[in-house]
Amino acid sequence: ATELTLDLLAAWLRRYAELVGDQKAYLTELDSAIGDADHGANMARGTAAVVEHLDEANTVDALLKKAGMTLVSTVGGTAGPLYGTLLMRMGMNTGAVTELSPQEFATALRAGLDGLIARGKTELGDKTMVDALTPGLDAFDKALADGGDLAAAAKAAQAAAAAGRDATEPMIARKGRASYLGERSRGHLDPGATSAVLLFDALVDVLG
Ligand code: ADP
Ligand code: MG
Ligand code: MG
Repeated sequence: ATELTLDLLAAWLRRYAELVGDQKAYLTELDSAIGDADHGANMARGTAAVVEHLDEANTVDALLKKAGMTLVSTVGGTAGPLYGTLLMRMGMNTGAVTELSPQEFATALRAGLDGLIARGKTELGDKTMVDALTPGLDAFDKALADGGDLAAAAKAAQAAAAAGRDATEPMIARKGRASYLGERSRGHLDPGATSAVLLFDALVDVLG
């Protein structure tokens, strides 16, 4: 694929829900070490609800806004509303179109990430989902700027996001429940950074 059509974006979110479902127990295990052991359940519930509404939208903005609002309203806890903000802000950025170019997708994702960062009042290095999303998106942009196509950009983003996730392990958490642990949050992967990589995994899968 060269463009992100409405169908492809719906397939992306559907695949994300599948991957979250597959990794539900693992995400909860990660959250049990430095949080309250609900990240897998929270995300599985939220993404399953998103999937139920994917057929309703006729435009990209409606699809993304509905998905985002569904996450905000169905997921208790911190991460769901933050992912919801990401998707809602993406949708607010695209307009009522039926497909996005890779560059338009990257721009929308950046707007979404900026919204998430503003809502979470977080920055790089706080040991959150932002530590996977930011390098992922930076790599996506760079791959496009270097002349790569959508699939190449998605693969570059996936690799960079995974490296960003892995880099959360030695960090001390400065946001969310894990921050209550201080030094003891070191030595564990961040659950949200782990679920964030799945967004890029899902994109690679649907493009493959
Ligand atoms: P809760 O902590 O409310 O139980 P979850 O367990 O679903 O929510 O999500 C925890 C994840 O949320 C963390 O691993 C982290 O990645 C992310 N997170 C927490 N606080 C913030 C924040 N202020 N900004 C960005 N991400 C955050
Ligand atoms: Mg939790
Ligand atoms: Mg919780």
